Amino acid sequence: IIATDQLSKFLESGIYRFESSNAVFMDPVRVLNRSYTSFRVSPSTYYSRFFESKHADQARTASSDKISRKRKRKQRRPQILNEREQVADQRHQLVRSLLMEAHESLLGADDLLAVVRNLRENFCSSDSKAKECGKDLWTGVEQSFVELGRVWQAPLFEITVSSKQRNRPDSFAGNMINQCNEDRVLPLFNCLVGNMTSDDAEAKVLDRRYIIPRESSFYMSDLGQIHNVIPADSDCGYSLIIIDPPWENGSAYQKSMYQTLPNRYFLSLPIKQLIHTEGALLALWVTNREKLLNFVENELFPAWGVRFAATFYWLKVQADGSLISDIDLFHHRPYERLLLGYCDGVGMNSEHLSKVIPIKDNQVIISIPGDYSRKPPIGDLLMEHVPALKPTRCIELFAREMMAGWVSWGNEPLYFQESGYFQQI
Ligand code: SAM
Repeated sequence: IIATDQLSKFLESGIYRFESSNAVFMDPVRVLNRSYTSFRVSPSTYYSRFFESKHADQARTASSDKISRKRKRKQRRPQILNEREQVADQRHQLVRSLLMEAHESLLGADDLLAVVRNLRENFCSSDSKAKECGKDLWTGVEQSFVELGRVWQAPLFEITVSSKQRNRPDSFAGNMINQCNEDRVLPLFNCLVGNMTSDDAEAKVLDRRYIIPRESSFYMSDLGQIHNVIPADSDCGYSLIIIDPPWENGSAYQKSMYQTLPNRYFLSLPIKQLIHTEGALLALWVTNREKLLNFVENELFPAWGVRFAATFYWLKVQADGSLISDIDLFHHRPYERLLLGYCDGVGMNSEHLSKVIPIKDNQVIISIPGDYSRKPPIGDLLMEHVPALKPTRCIELFAREMMAGWVSWGNEPLYFQESGYFQQI
């Protein structure tokens, strides 16, 4: 009965809580769908990897056999770890059993696994008319906003936002432009563009369509312009900040996906200026590189004024529930870390603070990854730990997508908003 109850909650919310461990399983598609009214995130475009067709499966098995033979050969050689790698390995050993326990909870939940195998099926598959929206226009290749932003015409590019309702007349982030017409034409770059209605809006850039969730906005710019998202008054600051920086790493594939930045650039992110008077919860995605973890613990968090609170782990599985790689594979761990910390505000309110639920360390979020480097939407899981008054004011830095109630900043926050990623219902 408990399993059925958990499963029906999962089908509704996209979150399955395992009772026996500190873990949840998430379907990012269901979680993201809470941001939309007339559109749905298309599961088949979200789950572009780890759910291959039979044909592709065979090709993949052949090539992954080759890779795993190579890896096994490598692993058979006695691995001599340098000092830093030994520390990294000790960190890994400390969380290994926690992650395996979380994984076992998933493997023991037969009712959930039966659904997980079919997560890629479209919600509307029974309706032959269910529109994969924009598929006819979409080539499968996203608009490169980074390139558009670099050309001399960049300040001339415009976005037309069409909403069904009028924008709320109040100011969302200080410098929000609110007009009453249904079609608003705004600069694409270096401008806060929002949909303050309670319904999805559609937007057009050049000849492409984008879906903009309710009560959300984006500011598309290079890091050099990030000061423009600093609120004029800290009472309008953010109480939940998620950051997924373009960390440098050795992967050539990553370099081809987006530009990366040296660590020192992140030291100057204006975190202290972004936070709400009553403080903020900050969540930072990091890779498993020991050098990076040291940098965050010893330099970055102190520079931002962040007090470390907890570590969450994102454990990545395939559609059959198996891990995407061997848990002990040194450079390809099947998990990433999310570091959580608090930033004190200038006017912390002890009454509000006493209502905040303390964050439990070592929680595990299990999901099937979407596109390369796309993180699961963890905002809702963090809401109860946010220090300030409700409604929570949320911002994501280096974002590639939008969510209801959030401001998204980065050089391509519209990336996953392109209509090809959605279905119309
Ligand atoms: N969290 C995102 C997701 O789930 O899809 C992934 C973010 S990805 C790790 C980092 C993002 O930072 C990329 O979109 C990249 O284009 C962007 N970026 C890189 N250099 C930047 C810069 N100088 N200014 C603004 N954004 C930048």
